[in-house]
Amino acid sequence: MVRFIMVTVLFLSTFILVFLARITFSKRKIVGKSPLYLTFCLVATAIYCFGYAFELSSNTLDEVIFWVRFEHIGIQFLAPFWFFFVLYQTGHHRWVNTYTKICLYGISLFFYFSSQTLGNRNWMHLNPRINWIQGMPIFDYDPTPIMAIAVVYMSLLVLICFLLLTMLMIRSAPALRSRTLILWLSAFIPWASELVYYFGYSLYDLDIAPLAFTISGIIASIGIIKYNILTVVPLARNLIFDGMRDAALVINLNGQIIDFNYRLTEIFPFVNHNSVGKLATGEFSAHSDVQKLLQKTDIKKTEITVCQNGITHYYQVNQSELKDRSGKLLGTVVTFYLYTEIKELMNKLEEFATHDQLTGVNNRRRFIELAEVEINRSLRYGRIFSLIIFDLDHFKHVNDEYGHLAGDVVLKTVAQTCKDCLRGSDIFGRFGGEEFVFLLPETNLEEGQLFAERMRIAIQNISFLAIDIDLKISASFGITSNEDQNSMKLEEMLRAADQALYKAKSSGRNCVCSYPIEVTA
Ligand code: GH3
Ligand code: MG
Ligand code: MG
Repeated sequence: MVRFIMVTVLFLSTFILVFLARITFSKRKIVGKSPLYLTFCLVATAIYCFGYAFELSSNTLDEVIFWVRFEHIGIQFLAPFWFFFVLYQTGHHRWVNTYTKICLYGISLFFYFSSQTLGNRNWMHLNPRINWIQGMPIFDYDPTPIMAIAVVYMSLLVLICFLLLTMLMIRSAPALRSRTLILWLSAFIPWASELVYYFGYSLYDLDIAPLAFTISGIIASIGIIKYNILTVVPLARNLIFDGMRDAALVINLNGQIIDFNYRLTEIFPFVNHNSVGKLATGEFSAHSDVQKLLQKTDIKKTEITVCQNGITHYYQVNQSELKDRSGKLLGTVVTFYLYTEIKELMNKLEEFATHDQLTGVNNRRRFIELAEVEINRSLRYGRIFSLIIFDLDHFKHVNDEYGHLAGDVVLKTVAQTCKDCLRGSDIFGRFGGEEFVFLLPETNLEEGQLFAERMRIAIQNISFLAIDIDLKISASFGITSNEDQNSMKLEEMLRAADQALYKAKSSGRNCVCSYPIEVTA
């Protein structure tokens, strides 16, 4: 009776395995190499089951030996096929190469030929015999060292597969864990069956390996058919997602964290596996800028700074919708792109574009930009302001007499002297050559004249003795204000101040002249 059940089950298994092998084989074109290896596994198991069914149906030792030899076609190649299949599934494709293939198939081939010596030289099975248990011919033998090595080799491969799948399962995103569990189970069952058989717990001393592999094959195949788990993307997700240079956070429609990658935990160490299922806004309570973005799904982009090990890093944060294939909204994906280097470069570029390299003050372009904003504001609110241009006197002479480098030092010192006299709201810049310009908000002509006078004296008093240059310099100032001319534009104001400066030059230099023309000092 037991024999009948066993044989029936084994034939049924063979049938199912061949059927599944056909399905997995048909998937090989869609999802790469791994269905092919699973097909090989299923065929190898089918051979094993088929042979075992006939082995249990045999009546003589010769018949048993024939079928055992037949089974070994499947047995010896099952482990490397399974191994390569798992390598593909766990993203270790690189290990499946010519060397590993030659090596593993070579070893299997050797064991296969050794197994075929059963019945004459008996390299693997010494003293082959039959024990009749429950009416079944249970094949028995004394294992040779080659057999022991073959068992260790196979167990090792199965164990590695089991460990790889266990690791994959631990690292799997919660959403994908059920898929990984299917594969993990299909690896666990043969491994457990090996242990049971090895420790002699199997019923009637039956070899349960073919059944265990059949169950595994069925589970793995169901995984493929039902969940399409052979699609590389979900399983390779760990590699792609965790290997990403950008940090990523996946949030569902309720605002709960459902996934994140390794990079994210480097930036935000407080995010860990306990964060899954928690509200993202709550988890990011310490980062108000991220929180603000998470609260408003309409904000797509922002920039944040994060202090890591005392260094400030800039991240560009993008929030995008996560949709399934049918376009149904599932949640949002927030990515954090590290752009500290770019940001610093941008800051430098901005510095170059807006500041004078020699003196470090605003350049002409920047001055005009800032001045225009200020003038518009002043005109809008009916405020007064003054504009001053000054030009160093006989500066060409400074260069000619003391050299260009000394001239540079003079320009820098003058710029610094001016900066020291500024109020927070004043705008100052180098207009070109040895010409500088001020825009003084909330300053009428009279106050502007006083300021210019102060500056004139400050420049006149600069001493260069500290750098061994016995030089006195002076500057001429032209000033104008919008006091009586409310609609003046920056361009007109600059022209007016320039005219006043021209007048100051022609009036003997080292003086302040205002527009409408009026010379002081
Ligand atoms: P004035 O009193 O009429 O203004 O006479 P000036 O010699 O100052 O006027 P001019 O425009 O003839 O000469 C300006 C000089 O400023 C000529 C130029 O070589 C020098 N200069 C312009 N930019 C720089 C600079 O960045 N460094 C140095 N060292 N000299 C500069
Ligand atoms: Mg000059
Ligand atoms: Mg000049």
